[in-house]
Amino acid sequence: MSDATTEPHFDYDIAIVGAGPVGLALAGWLARRSATSRLSIALIDARTPEAAATDPRSLALSHGSRVMLQPLGFPADATPIRRIHVSQRGHFGRTLIEHDEHELPELGYVVRYGSLVAALADAVRKTHVDWVTDTSALPPLQDDESVTVPLQSASGERTIRVRVLVNAEGGLYQQAPRETAVANDRRARDYGQTAIVGTVSVSEPQANVAWERFTNEGPIALLPCGGQRHADYSLVWCGSPDEAARRMQLDDDAFLAELGAAFGARMGRFTRIVGRAAFPLGLTALHALVERRAVAIGNAAQTLHPVAGQGLNLGLRDAQALCDALSTDGPRPLALAHFAQRRALDRRLTIGATDTLARIFTVDFPPLAAMRGLALTALEFLPPVKTALARQMMFGQRR
Ligand SMILES: Cc1cc2nc3c(=O)[nH]c(=O)nc-3n(C[C@H](O)[C@H](O)[C@H](O)COP(=O)(O)OP(=O)(O)OC[C@H]3O[C@@H](n4cnc5c(N)ncnc54)[C@H](O)[C@@H]3O)c2cc1C
Repeated sequence: MSDATTEPHFDYDIAIVGAGPVGLALAGWLARRSATSRLSIALIDARTPEAAATDPRSLALSHGSRVMLQPLGFPADATPIRRIHVSQRGHFGRTLIEHDEHELPELGYVVRYGSLVAALADAVRKTHVDWVTDTSALPPLQDDESVTVPLQSASGERTIRVRVLVNAEGGLYQQAPRETAVANDRRARDYGQTAIVGTVSVSEPQANVAWERFTNEGPIALLPCGGQRHADYSLVWCGSPDEAARRMQLDDDAFLAELGAAFGARMGRFTRIVGRAAFPLGLTALHALVERRAVAIGNAAQTLHPVAGQGLNLGLRDAQALCDALSTDGPRPLALAHFAQRRALDRRLTIGATDTLARIFTVDFPPLAAMRGLALTALEFLPPVKTALARQMMFGQRR
């Protein structure tokens, strides 16, 4: 039993480590939901939202993610996707996914990472969330009542004591996936691939069409990203680490020529590339999201291959489910148990589908390529299957 004199001191009810899109969305949603109960919330990140503007990624967000984010804010420069064209290079078979088949205004949107972080940060700054510009030095210390989180800043070290700690500090793309493969608390796979990202322009653009083209080396995604400037596409070109390293060194003309040879001429010629950057690709997925009073969400919980653009969409569904659980059950282990239970199916399906796609479309074995072509073609003739697949990718499993 605790009374006023023995009640332990807490700095915050909830500390969220990581102000990436997932941590920001959770902070914003929690602040809105807890306006009356007034949960005290800290959001911890040494990086400012302005620094995130330099992140070279553009992200495809599903219509379902936009609906979730709308109450907080959505980037004004987002580009709608109305058709997705999926095919494989050098083999027959393709499928089209159209927005009107699903009675949706758009299938999804392409947003710049920096624009999304800026929009969410604006929303969070208007709330009672305490933004702490420190770095957390996980792992934290836990007892039955609380979590003690060590923090480091330019002015030194300190600790804060909280009831629940949320790890939203992002993924492991920047580290070699092999380093994590030995850990037994997670599922891990090294795809032996690196993604080159950048913004390209084409000579014959098709407005609001996103392309996913599978090659023997890995998928190439082109996402419309120029707003009204239809000629611009965000490129994600997955290939072997050696080839990616070589392509990073090519001059622009040589790079664009190789990209044209790999993607084909469906949008004419590639005329420009800016902002080339490379990301090593791997799968890391924690087996358990909760450890007593600490919980992981977003890329800290699972880091996926970008093949179907599911990483952030899945992370936002983590954040929304955690917001629901903490708002309903309070900052207690019971809320975290409910959260973990509710996320199990969606995680299993989305991680499984992404992992399968990343692997089966890169095996250079002619009979398998023929089967993949058949599968893509069959989707055109099996609308219920295509619809079910598209809906899983757009909305996931929320219950
Ligand atoms: C090439 C590429 C293309 C992608 N395309 C898509 C796509 O089309 N669609 C999609 O849904 N997903 C896509 N993804 C995945 C997407 O980028 C991630 O899922 C998303 O960024 C995860 O958000 P997050 O907030 O969990 O983590 P992050 O975006 O990594 O943010 C983590 C935050 O935590 C902070 N942080 C880290 N460590 C600490 C610490 N110790 N203390 C305090 N703060 C800390 C960081 O500064 C950062 O602000 C892609 C990924 C890649 C690499």
